Amino acid sequence: MSDNLLTVAYIGAIALFIISVWGLSKPETAPRGNIYGIIGMIIAVVATALSHEVTGYGPLIVAIIIGGTIGAIAAVKVAMTGLPQMVGLFNSFVGLAAVLIGFSELLKLDGTLVGVDLTIHKLEIFIGVFVGAITFTGSVIAFAKLQGLVTSRAVMLPGRHWVNLAMFVACVGFGFEFMSVASTEAMMLPLAVMTAISSILGINMVMAIGGADMPVVISILNSYSGWVGTATGFMLSNDLLIVTGSIVGSSGAILSYVMCKAMNRSFLNVVLGGFGEGATPTGTGAKIEGEATPTTAAETAELLRDAQSVVIVPGYGMAVAQAQHAVSDITKFLRARNINVRFGIHPVAGRMPGHMNVLLAEANLPYDIVLEMDEINDDFPKTDVVLVIGANDTVNPSALDDPSSPIAGMPVMEVWKADAVVVFKRSLGSGYAGVGNPLFFKENTFMLFGDAKKNVNAVYAELTNSAPETVQETVLVAS
Ligand code: NDP
Repeated sequence: MSDNLLTVAYIGAIALFIISVWGLSKPETAPRGNIYGIIGMIIAVVATALSHEVTGYGPLIVAIIIGGTIGAIAAVKVAMTGLPQMVGLFNSFVGLAAVLIGFSELLKLDGTLVGVDLTIHKLEIFIGVFVGAITFTGSVIAFAKLQGLVTSRAVMLPGRHWVNLAMFVACVGFGFEFMSVASTEAMMLPLAVMTAISSILGINMVMAIGGADMPVVISILNSYSGWVGTATGFMLSNDLLIVTGSIVGSSGAILSYVMCKAMNRSFLNVVLGGFGEGATPTGTGAKIEGEATPTTAAETAELLRDAQSVVIVPGYGMAVAQAQHAVSDITKFLRARNINVRFGIHPVAGRMPGHMNVLLAEANLPYDIVLEMDEINDDFPKTDVVLVIGANDTVNPSALDDPSSPIAGMPVMEVWKADAVVVFKRSLGSGYAGVGNPLFFKENTFMLFGDAKKNVNAVYAELTNSAPETVQETVLVAS
């Protein structure tokens, strides 16, 4: 393929990626956005494969087959609840790729580059490998935390900020050595040592971030993976990688900022694992005692039948139980009886940004009754019944009234202000942040223990069994 044609293909792919990101910003346009992204990626891969720089098709085809097979299996096998871990793992691949490309670029240095060109290329290699190694190990730890392979709590080494600072300074020192030597052999040692140190730095930084702050870490690592792509683009002089990496990097950075704002966390404090004033709380929280009031599907149906206004607050447990369709059935039933049913979505509910919105869209719930936390929090005092479906940290009052809680300061759905709250979960156990929840012991809270899907279906059965036959169920449509 000629260079001109390659440029045209790259510009087309870039345009499609931009339209894709724009499409993904709203649930209605997200499927279309996804398709634009897929087409852009196909164009990018085919054009790159046909460019004059690619000569060995054997290894390329083998790599595409292996990578494509892994991707296809993951897409089919990984459940919705496992997506965040998968994203974490895929971010780590980007980091690893940058490290490997950095080393191969170093081995390719053959004396053709001199002067400023050589200096710039060495800088690209060093920075690309540095960010790549941090992204690789940090993402592997994020994956392990989400998968429950290592504790989700913050693991803080004594004096970790000094340790991190010392490691960073050492990397800069090895950077100077790398830049000052001339032969590839002499460059290899400082680059390899820096890779080892920055890999440990990545582990240390993410291990120190606990429980509820993980969403920010995931989006920060996502952003890093974008910048790693940009750095790799510079190493390989590939404009498409530079632009695409920048899109991923900057959109990840904006998402991290939005998540930090939603969780009332300082961006820098989360990244540094709680440094300085107003840092991420590291306490264990006050002891929570009391007696929870269990309830039944029949009693819950009774509460719903008498309600005028109902708010449903879903959380990670709804995703685990796959209860969204059952929840949709109840919503249709109640709305058909002129009961005002709305959904309240916490920005970090579930295990990835937009997790709940995706599930509710899958269950064909109209977008206009799905509200953000800020839009619905003031309405709880005017709400008759709140159904908390598998949410825990995001409805925990200790975030507001216990400064020693690990989630202190995080805005939460203030569901306890409603007349009655029914919590659908299997036990009194804690959520992702590992914090006890005083909501379960409040006077107006009723616990409907068991799998969320089973219990939502049981409540629906109670509602329909006792419903007067003359009332017609209507199909929900967005108004
Ligand atoms: P939580 O993780 O706090 O709680 C989920 C609850 O669901 C658990 O307490 C569990 O209780 C219950 N549950 C699990 N399976 C079932 C089931 N089959 N039926 C009924 N209940 C079930 O969820 P939230 O959504 O409230 O909060 C999300 C948490 O995850 C926050 O701490 C957030 O910071 C963190 N996080 C969010 C990310 C994001 O991007 N959104 C990314 C990474 C972390 P039980 O075992 O008793 O049933």
